[in-house]
Amino acid sequence: MKDKEPFGGLAIDFSGDSGASPLTSAPIAIAPDAPVAQPGGPTTVTSGEGRVDTKLLIVGSGPAGLTAAIYAARGSLEPVVLAGSSPGGQLMLTSDVENYPGFPDGIQGPDLMAQMRAQAERFGATLIDVDIDRVDLSERPFRIWARGTEYRAQSVIIATGASALWLGLDSETRLRGRGVSACATCDGFFFRDREIAVVGGGDTAFEEATYLTRFATKVHLLHRRDTFRASKIMIDRATAHPKIEIHPNVAIDEVLGDAKVEGLKIRDTVTGETSEMAIEGVFIAIGYVPNTAPFRDWLEVDSKGYLVVRDETGSNIEGVFIAGDVHDHRYRQAATAAGDGCKAAIDAERWLEAQGITEAATATAW
Ligand code: NAP
Repeated sequence: MKDKEPFGGLAIDFSGDSGASPLTSAPIAIAPDAPVAQPGGPTTVTSGEGRVDTKLLIVGSGPAGLTAAIYAARGSLEPVVLAGSSPGGQLMLTSDVENYPGFPDGIQGPDLMAQMRAQAERFGATLIDVDIDRVDLSERPFRIWARGTEYRAQSVIIATGASALWLGLDSETRLRGRGVSACATCDGFFFRDREIAVVGGGDTAFEEATYLTRFATKVHLLHRRDTFRASKIMIDRATAHPKIEIHPNVAIDEVLGDAKVEGLKIRDTVTGETSEMAIEGVFIAIGYVPNTAPFRDWLEVDSKGYLVVRDETGSNIEGVFIAGDVHDHRYRQAATAAGDGCKAAIDAERWLEAQGITEAATATAW
């Protein structure tokens, strides 16, 4: 069942902030009436059987979606955010975040996302924790359906992110954040002077293995075959590195440890022989999948399935904007996704203004 208090119900106290405007987001009531504009302006309108009309719909609630929501809400767009049934994005699976600016002592991933959500809601964004079912971007208003409700929007920001692929072992899930990670940039620092493993045979695995040598005493790169997808230069660099040992033909049967990772049960994929490897951390680097499925009929994707952006945050459809990991397989950072969300909100606002859908001169509100 869904948690009634998203992000664990973390409360943010803004009482000391004199610049605060009161919380304006209210649950959207779905009334079976004709369209009725809410008092106070051309804002979110609820109408018809299970229908919501808005100027700006944001899909996704990771750093990109929520930063877009903060900017759009401060620009008086009263955005509706379809946050997903597991809102918050990939940072919800991370423990300490030490590279997001503004938190010198670090912050837990879920706490950071709760703060972003509270900030977006404080300025009037409405967040709804539903997954989208269907999309029609053929004409404006764009239409997106989620759990029986039709959302109609003059503009859309897609910030649905990407998901790391996992091996699918129970022990891997249980020890995620306790030595199992899918992000070397995020978590490598915690493995200083430890012996660790990286799983995968593509560029990500080789890049992460090389990066992790900054911290670890030794990095075992484990790959299920004896040929690699990674580029030759990455393989050569790793092979020459004194801290990296490459183990071809190795599969992981189990991550060992109760409270934290203590080792791996591995299997030789040629002989079937099993053994144990003592390590204190394991990075799963077997690829990412961008969350683009509902949009593929409408939006251009690249050869890896990521959405293609035009002119910073635009897409092949006017009024549809793109932000964060759903298009970015290069940086994949919370800070870059947040920056992207900011840009997309500003671009959407300017586009709505150019169409005459919003009034001019909200720019100073950013
Ligand atoms: P990838 O190229 O698809 O490689 C994934 C690797 O994980 C493969 O070796 C695959 O093994 C292995 N794998 C997949 N599922 C597995 C499973 N269930 N159990 C064990 N192993 C599994 O993905 P990627 O490395 O993330 O790269 C994605 C794209 O980004 C590539 O085009 C890559 O070039 C690019 N990239 C570039 C850079 C760079 O240029 N700096 C850095 C990172 C990524 P098999 O080979 O046996 O299928």
